[in-house]
Amino acid sequence: MTDPQCVFCQIATGQIPVDPVFQNEEFLAFRDINPQAPVHVLVIPKAHYPTLMEVNDPQVLGRALRVVQETVTLLGIDREGFRTVINCRANGGQTVFHLHIHVLGGRHMQWPPG
Ligand code: 5GP
Ligand code: ZN
Repeated sequence: MTDPQCVFCQIATGQIPVDPVFQNEEFLAFRDINPQAPVHVLVIPKAHYPTLMEVNDPQVLGRALRVVQETVTLLGIDREGFRTVINCRANGGQTVFHLHIHVLGGRHMQWPPG
């Protein structure tokens, strides 16, 4: 359930320290190192799933979105709004192969995305 080579597993296990925005037993939310908006947080499961497509239990996905709700509320962007993004595999532009949900806020988002 943990890949020692994976940077987000190293964050999830505390080997690489981060300042958590929110965490529980199963998930961790922390700020992106290269923010694309005034608020840019990543929500990750502590377990290693390389991409969205390896998650077989829909309840994990449901709980992940509940963590997004809690995180945006803590960040104070729940009422003004925000964007969630899951980049998946090559065409999705995924660069870190440990499932993560981007939470972007603090400015108006454009559509379509790049
Ligand atoms: P992806 O392109 O895979 O959807 O997003 C990966 C994200 O992880 C990028 O936004 C990148 O800035 C962020 N990231 C990569 N390495 C680290 C790290 O070591 N710490 C933090 N906080 N964010 C990282
Ligand atoms: Zn991992």
